[in-house]
Amino acid sequence: MTGRLTNWAGNVTFSAERFHRPASVGELQRIVAGSSRVRAIGTGHSFNRIADSPGDLVSVAGLPRIIQIDAARATVTVSAGLRYGELAGPLNEAGWALRNLGSLPHISIAGACATGTHGSGDANGNLAAAVTALQMVTAGGDVVTLSRDGDGERFGGVVVALGALGIVTSLTLDLVPAFGIRQYVYEGLPRDQLDEHLADIFASAYSVSLFTGWRGGAISQVWRKCLAAAVGSPAPAPWLGARPADGPRHPVPGMPAAYCTQQLGVPGPWHERLPHFRPEFTPSSGEELQSEYLVPREHAVEALAAIDRIRNRVAPLLRISEIRTVAADDLWLSPSYQRPSVAIHFTWVKDPEAVQPVLAAIEDQLAPLRARPHWGKLFAASPAAVRGRYPRLPDFQRLRSHYDPVGKFGNELVDCYVPAG
Ligand SMILES: Cc1cc2nc3c(=O)[nH]c(=O)nc-3n(C[C@H](O)[C@H](O)[C@H](O)COP(=O)(O)OP(=O)(O)OC[C@H]3O[C@@H](n4cnc5c(N)ncnc54)[C@H](O)[C@@H]3O)c2cc1C
Repeated sequence: MTGRLTNWAGNVTFSAERFHRPASVGELQRIVAGSSRVRAIGTGHSFNRIADSPGDLVSVAGLPRIIQIDAARATVTVSAGLRYGELAGPLNEAGWALRNLGSLPHISIAGACATGTHGSGDANGNLAAAVTALQMVTAGGDVVTLSRDGDGERFGGVVVALGALGIVTSLTLDLVPAFGIRQYVYEGLPRDQLDEHLADIFASAYSVSLFTGWRGGAISQVWRKCLAAAVGSPAPAPWLGARPADGPRHPVPGMPAAYCTQQLGVPGPWHERLPHFRPEFTPSSGEELQSEYLVPREHAVEALAAIDRIRNRVAPLLRISEIRTVAADDLWLSPSYQRPSVAIHFTWVKDPEAVQPVLAAIEDQLAPLRARPHWGKLFAASPAAVRGRYPRLPDFQRLRSHYDPVGKFGNELVDCYVPAG
């Protein structure tokens, strides 16, 4: 490999010695069987070393492209390296939709599902919750297919797997009929209104995101993504003390609204409204780091108050913070495992040394609420603390030993936080 690969943010230089882009599953099987340490990389959008490998690093983006809709089952089978943005258009044209998307369409489907990536919406699980089956190449080079219907409980362990069980080559996802969304942005939601009406605010649309700089006072923006067909879609009128924005907005102060998906209530298809950012632009602010913590939804107000207590440490390093909700699921390593959650996200300036101690301070504040960090973002919590928040971790560790008895798919981060059983 000439020149080292880095992640999207540029804060991680991968240590892998060799990089592969197989063109067939057979070629991938030979690479895996012949390697002693190998891991998959998606589109490299994680902010920590989760995708790194001490030996071989493999992208499945070169495998034959598959988008196979099964209308009778309402599912689609896709090649694992496909990006959500590449899948969404063809699905919509065929009259189908995914139930939800993350804030950007650029990430790979396998990479997003492996870390429990999520969007927002009280009734919407994370993106991995849509997976009904997957195929992966395991340590010996064998191809294994697992499904929600055929593999019972064990399936809960293999979807959010941090790349530690094998290299996923295809996934089958649940579909729903295509739907339209109207996106409304409100500004200046008073903090006391949020505390008093938090559940109603998040229940007020299909997907709701709050943005704040933690500078005290009001929540700067509320993005409400409403089903276009819903009776009584909110008219752009003042709401709980917040004002409807009089033009398009970017959530990060000073960034151009042209990067963002259409707002002002203009109806549009699900895939052009659920992500915050358009596929043709560099998402978010580019020069940044990210962290996120999921806490049980019943502790949302407490969690926000806890961050507020240290806002003078948070705000100076922050570009923006986003607060979303995620439905509970049954995926063992999912940060929303069996907990309807509120997810508190931080987009930081790109200064890892300054950010690290603030992560520790946030984690101290959120520890009593048993916060689970996003696997693909920066966190400081000790392995013991993180492990204690995943009741099915011992079962996952047994799965690791089963599919990867020699520890081929491990790396420093994974071996530290979810060691083989
Ligand atoms: C600008 C920006 C916005 C973001 N917005 C959101 C958001 O809205 N919500 C959210 O939850 N997260 C968000 N994230 C985080 C991001 O979604 C996750 O880090 C996600 O895992 C990245 O996907 P990826 O394809 O880049 O995976 P990578 O970062 O490349 O890899 C992540 C993990 O997936 C594994 N993996 C990848 N491909 C395979 C495969 N074929 N088989 C097995 N394992 C595999 C890797 O080994 C690794 O463990 C954002 C990140 C950025 C940069």
